[in-house]
Formats: sequence, C-alpha cells, structure tokens
Amino acid sequence: MKRICDIERDKNPLELVKLPKPIPKENEILVKVLACGVCHTELDEIEGRTPPPRFPVILGHEVVGIVEEIGAEVRKFKIGDRVGIAWIYSACGKCKMCRKGYENLCKEFKGTGRDADGGYAEYMVIGEDFAFPIPPVFSDLEAAPLLCAGAIGYRSLRLTGIKDGENLGLTGFGASAHLVLKMVKYKYPNVKVFVFARSKNEREFAKELGASWAGDTEEESPEKLSAIIDTTPAWKPIVEALKNLEPGGRLVINAIRKEEIDKEYLLKLDYSKHLWMEKEIKSVANVTRKDVSEFLELAAKIPIKPESQEFSLEEANKALVELKERKIRGAKVLKIG
Ligand SMILES: [Zn+2]
Ligand SMILES: [Zn+2]
Repeated sequence: MKRICDIERDKNPLELVKLPKPIPKENEILVKVLACGVCHTELDEIEGRTPPPRFPVILGHEVVGIVEEIGAEVRKFKIGDRVGIAWIYSACGKCKMCRKGYENLCKEFKGTGRDADGGYAEYMVIGEDFAFPIPPVFSDLEAAPLLCAGAIGYRSLRLTGIKDGENLGLTGFGASAHLVLKMVKYKYPNVKVFVFARSKNEREFAKELGASWAGDTEEESPEKLSAIIDTTPAWKPIVEALKNLEPGGRLVINAIRKEEIDKEYLLKLDYSKHLWMEKEIKSVANVTRKDVSEFLELAAKIPIKPESQEFSLEEANKALVELKERKIRGAKVLKIG
C-alpha cells in the first residue's frame, strides 16, 4: 500500500511488487507466509481511519506461516515450526498499561501490517515473543482468520461480562461475529444469541449457526439483551442496539474506527430510550497476546473452524473491494505459500 485512497473509486489500492527477503534481527524470526486473512482493519488503513505512519507498507495481520530463519537469540521457535502472527506486533513491556496486563493499550503498541510490514507477502519478520504456535487441528486457511477476527471476538465477548443463561446480541455478522457465536455456543450453552444484520445472507447464515433470532439492524429483539457486541463500521447499529439492552446492559463496540458516513444517526440518540437505566458502552482496542493464545486454545478445543473464502495474493485488491461491498460469507483469506 502506497497511499490513502477511496476504495470505492480506486479499486486497486495495493500494488504487487518484488521486494528483498527481510532479514531477522537477534530476537526475530523470518516467517514464510502460507496464508493471511483479510480484515476490515485493512479498509480502515486504506481509507485513512487508522493510517499507517509510513509508506509503502505491507498490510495483513492474520498471518500463518513457517519459520524459515531465526535470529541468534531466538529460543522459542525453531526452523520449520508453524506460527501465527496477530494484530499485536509489539508493545513496550515496561509502561503502566503493559505491567497491568493491558499491553493492547500501550502507547507504543505496534499493529502488524500498519506500524510494521505484515502478511500480504511471501515473507515477514517478527519478534519471537509476538508469534504463536498454531494448534495442529487447524489448516493454514482455517487458522488465519482466528488470529484477528477470533482473538478480538474473544476479547469482546470477555468484555461483555456475559453469564450463562443471559441473552447476547450481535449487531453485524461478519468474520468476528460468526466466531463469537461459535464460542458462545460452546462456553455458554444456555445463552440465547440475537443477531442484527442488514444483509439477508448474513441473517440466514447466523440462523444456520444457531442464533435464536435474526433481524434487520433497526428491528426490536423479541427479548431484552444483557449485552450486545457491535462489529459494524457504522453508527446506526449502535443507536438501534441500545434500545434492546436491558437495564444495566452493556454495549461493546468492536471496531477500530467508525466511518463518518452515517454519523448524523447519532442525533436520534434518545437518552431515556437508549442510555437511561445504567446502560454502558465500552470499546475494544487491539488485542493482548493472552487474548490470542487463550483463544487459539479454546478454538482448538471446540473446535472452531471458520468458514473461509480463498483468494490468491494477486487477488488481494479484489478481496478488499468485496469486503467493502459487504459481499461476506465467513472470512476472506489469501492463500500465499
Ligand atoms: Zn483484523
Ligand atoms: Zn507498554
């Protein structure tokens, strides 16, 4: 990626170029990329909502690959190991947030594929402490979307504070939400899940996966909800979701940035209908290594195998445009190796 652009007009934001193989530093591993998931965050980067600090940059933070070379001080991995790389590329490890276990909120947090070159490539490097072993139960294509959509879904679900037997809402039903639904079914078998999605395909998909109810974004759910996770890029779903929360309920917003396009919808916010009765709103920012590794372990146990749609590295632009146009059924993954 070389510049910020409007993907609706410029349908080729990424350029395919030949680059030298990166060289790992002492504590880094060189990973030969086999698969890389396509995430909405890439659109946020391309369209400038979370712009990379330098150009050109290689996008991609749901990376599965094989360790091909290791730096002199690497101890955790050996050549030939299969590893995953997630959104967390590095954090300082020393600040107040890092010490409290909130490395996702570290001021020096670096995002893979934004602040450092990511996985839309044949090779990438990363510090050994920020790579994860991938459980053998997953294929490369299955593991890739777990690394972001899954890990951030896991964090969002944790932040809802939901308990078994309560009602959970999901507004938006893309890659992350469909994994949350699978996690809920396993962890909290008595939680009823209510899905709000504007696309009929997404609603049908949700029901196939066991949602108790699925309706359009502005519909009223048949029962009040203890918590709702929002995974949309828009504002309307936020306002519409709040009316479905029960007293003391919590809305968790899992979106790195919101698009400006329907911001006026916020004017419909009605204090007594949407916020009164101690309703809470909480955002989710980034992921910690703990989220990623705990989620991979849980996903292997269930097992969660994401529905994915395969593209080649050369088709990365096509995959991104389809994501923008919300042609979604499960996760999009670039098959590279
Ligand atoms: Zn992502
Ligand atoms: Zn820190």
